[in-house]
Amino acid sequence: MSRTEQAHRYSETEEQQALRGAVADVAAKYGSGYWLEKARANERTIELWAEAGALGYLGANIPEEYGGGGGGIAELAIVCEELAAAGCPLLMIVVSPAIAGTIIARSGTDEQKTAWLPGLAEGTAKLAFAITEPDAGTNSHNLATVARRDNGGWILNGRKTYISGVDESDAVLVVGRTDDEQTGKLRPALFIVPRDTPGFDWKPIEMDVIAPEEQFACFFDDVELPAEALVGGDVAGLDQLFAGLNPERITIAAYANGIARYALEKAVAYANERQVWDVPIGAHQGVSHPLAEAAIQVELARLVTSKAAALHDAGEARAAGEAANMAKLASADAALLTLDRAIQAHGGNGLASEYDLAAYWGVLRVARIAPVSREMILNYVAQHTLGLPRSY
Ligand SMILES: Cc1cc2nc3c(=O)[nH]c(=O)nc-3n(C[C@H](O)[C@H](O)[C@H](O)COP(=O)(O)OP(=O)(O)OC[C@H]3O[C@@H](n4cnc5c(N)ncnc54)[C@H](O)[C@@H]3O)c2cc1C
Repeated sequence: MSRTEQAHRYSETEEQQALRGAVADVAAKYGSGYWLEKARANERTIELWAEAGALGYLGANIPEEYGGGGGGIAELAIVCEELAAAGCPLLMIVVSPAIAGTIIARSGTDEQKTAWLPGLAEGTAKLAFAITEPDAGTNSHNLATVARRDNGGWILNGRKTYISGVDESDAVLVVGRTDDEQTGKLRPALFIVPRDTPGFDWKPIEMDVIAPEEQFACFFDDVELPAEALVGGDVAGLDQLFAGLNPERITIAAYANGIARYALEKAVAYANERQVWDVPIGAHQGVSHPLAEAAIQVELARLVTSKAAALHDAGEARAAGEAANMAKLASADAALLTLDRAIQAHGGNGLASEYDLAAYWGVLRVARIAPVSREMILNYVAQHTLGLPRSY
């Protein structure tokens, strides 16, 4: 085995490398031209989603018995990263197979698994995920979306905000609270709410982000749900929610890492070709060093992302939580630094639409805020990794 092969095996199996190559080949057929055209026209990436689904990439982490690839979040993160590296970051992968797929595969009832997992795996079904509320913000203890028992079913009331892709999803996986039958206290619970359920209303939020996905405000007004809408039945709770949060952080990190690679590749090509004095601009260390430094930051971010995925897939929830938080912060920071430097290396062209670069700023900037903000990750690491006191 060559050193290069050995180095690759350090982090990835042969199957994972083959998956990476196969996804990259498909993504290259679409590229930034396709993604940006859809984003600028406020259209969805239906063709790419369908092809990635049919080839089994979107279901990489879904169990084989439900039509998925039987891999883990490591495989789904590879899919996310390679699509983004070709200029096609797909936010709904983070939401639908990563969060909803993980939660339903781990905690859903047999009926819920049969109803949802095959469709999520092949990309023919999509679930949005709704936790954020206008008045709760980052403090999920303040969630005010509540489901009360009624005639053997549920009545759901509440509001959610910045929910991605409601218009293109079949249903929304809603994080609410319900009374615990034993203690009478409210505890977190997840409900599957089909998009056309009476009492459920959703409106787009205008965003200054160029993206093929839209964000929505959701209103649940006396929404009647059957007993089976509760994910996992009465036994489930907080654990099932946490099961989905690490995959969310890991795949958004992979999404950012992919955009970073996309920007770096463009910057390197440009710096090798553009000449304003008597050498290509990449020969000036003022251009090459910022890009080299960005490449190092991106590689570090990719390493901690694959560590987080490996820990999650090994069932090491606590260690995965720490690594997933670190990966999310490191990847967002590395990718934003890289995109900024790639724009700088392009000079004025970096901001021109023709160069397909600055248009990614918005979707990437989101990664510093969602699904968990930079500040809350620093709070987490300060308290849990370092043992410092909590400030809030
Ligand atoms: C494009 C986009 C897509 C999204 N998609 C989804 C989705 O599909 N589903 C979903 O549920 N949500 C989604 N979100 C919401 C996102 O997860 C939240 O915006 C994010 O969690 C931050 O919450 P907030 O906006 O309420 O900020 P706030 O909680 O109001 O925080 C505002 C600022 O204060 C800081 N802050 C708050 N408390 C503290 C503290 N104790 N210490 C230090 N700093 C603090 C925060 O870090 C942040 O910078 C999306 C958001 C965007 C922009």
